[in-house]
Amino acid sequence: MTPPAKKTAPAKRHTHNFIDRNDEAFARLNDALFYFGELGMQEHRSAALMCDLLEKEGFSVDRNPSGFETGFVARYGSGRPLIAIHTEYDANPTNSQQPGIDEQREIVAGAPGHCEGHNVNAACMITAALAIRHAMDEYRLPGEIRIVGAPAEEQLISRPYYVRDGLFDDVDVALHPHILDEFRSDFGLIQAAAISVDFVFSGRAAHAAVAPWDGRDALDAVILMDNGMAQLREHMMPGLTMHRVMTHGGEQPNIIPARASVWWYFRGPTTESVDLLFQRAKEIAEGAAMMTGCRVETAIRAAVWPVLLTPKVAEVIQRNIEAVGMPEWTADEQDFARRLQKAAEKSQIGLRPAITPFAGPARQISASNDCGDVSWKVPMGRLWFPANIPHIPFHHWSAGAALTTSIAHKGGIAGAKVLAGTVIDYLTDPTLVEEAQTSFRAEIGDTVYRPLIPLDQPPPRSLNAELMDRYRPAMEAFYPAQLPVFT
Ligand SMILES: [Zn+2]
Repeated sequence: MTPPAKKTAPAKRHTHNFIDRNDEAFARLNDALFYFGELGMQEHRSAALMCDLLEKEGFSVDRNPSGFETGFVARYGSGRPLIAIHTEYDANPTNSQQPGIDEQREIVAGAPGHCEGHNVNAACMITAALAIRHAMDEYRLPGEIRIVGAPAEEQLISRPYYVRDGLFDDVDVALHPHILDEFRSDFGLIQAAAISVDFVFSGRAAHAAVAPWDGRDALDAVILMDNGMAQLREHMMPGLTMHRVMTHGGEQPNIIPARASVWWYFRGPTTESVDLLFQRAKEIAEGAAMMTGCRVETAIRAAVWPVLLTPKVAEVIQRNIEAVGMPEWTADEQDFARRLQKAAEKSQIGLRPAITPFAGPARQISASNDCGDVSWKVPMGRLWFPANIPHIPFHHWSAGAALTTSIAHKGGIAGAKVLAGTVIDYLTDPTLVEEAQTSFRAEIGDTVYRPLIPLDQPPPRSLNAELMDRYRPAMEAFYPAQLPVFT
């Protein structure tokens, strides 16, 4: 039998050939997920389609990991190493956008939609997974691949539960593909820790005109908490951010609100800093409750660690990016990108002509991703693949306009090749796995992972259910008739 390292190049070629041969299936999968446009925890069609594709190709699929009905864990192969790929496929509320045009036009008025590209993330992951599985068979590669579908990233939900419940305990290296306009991999602390919390105040209802003295106004408590939080801002450490929406403020003006609530996000560079900010906010909430004669309860919706990417894993991904290279964009694609940039009032630089050179460590940004928890448990790499348009802001209508065009397809296919190639590197070269582990240990130092979510907390199954149920019937008219077939 040939030693595994000798199999690297042919096995990698095998995956790339598979992906090229299945470019139409990639596009169909990508576009189907786009038109499903499913919100977090309601990704039923998206998850079912991907599970069916994986099962058909011999993966054993768990369709309910950690109680997530729209999550999945698909396994193929056995033994070491164990390489996991995880990504998200949720859309956002009110982000419905017709693709392929350079003006804001909804597919279904008011409906959810993809305006970042998590549909491409998932198409990239599934296509790579199928390609790797074929190469594993063809070249009898030892090891296991674990494909993890992660619901509701937009509300930072699922992966902390997976990590808490041990899904990554035996993983050697984890990889996360995510759409961008660049082709690159980076390393270091790149995204923030976050805690998402409801503060629910309870008071006592009373007739607002006849007997206001009998009332204990929960909305007053929300407002006093807000004032307190505004005062706190001056004293926050640099790098900490917080933002909120008021989710309930009473029923009608002639009833003193007995119940009112506010939903806060706290973010910062470390879990400790975010936890401290949360504790200060709780004290302010208690103070507001005391001033108004109300009670306050908190409920954690989500809590995530900052994302930490392992340098040695980033190097392996980057070598594969260099080998695959930037897609060649046509004049039409460049023209569309410039028109869209103009419509979004951004500089009209078109699509990037080349991959981004390797550099780092990255500068930590204030946004978060629920894969942060994975990154403190096992060595993790992030692949940024070029399937959207430079300078277009995510969650803006313009970030949805390219997501079923040839730009998304070519960028996603290039991403799938890099992802498959990276996994083949790990399956065929044990020294790379060792390097990843050593590099990871040096990065985390003496930090010990502990879940930030409550240990007994179940997934929020009904999250977004009402919203999705309202729009799904109208959106179904746009579901594609032809589903992907990989061969
Ligand atoms: Zn995202």
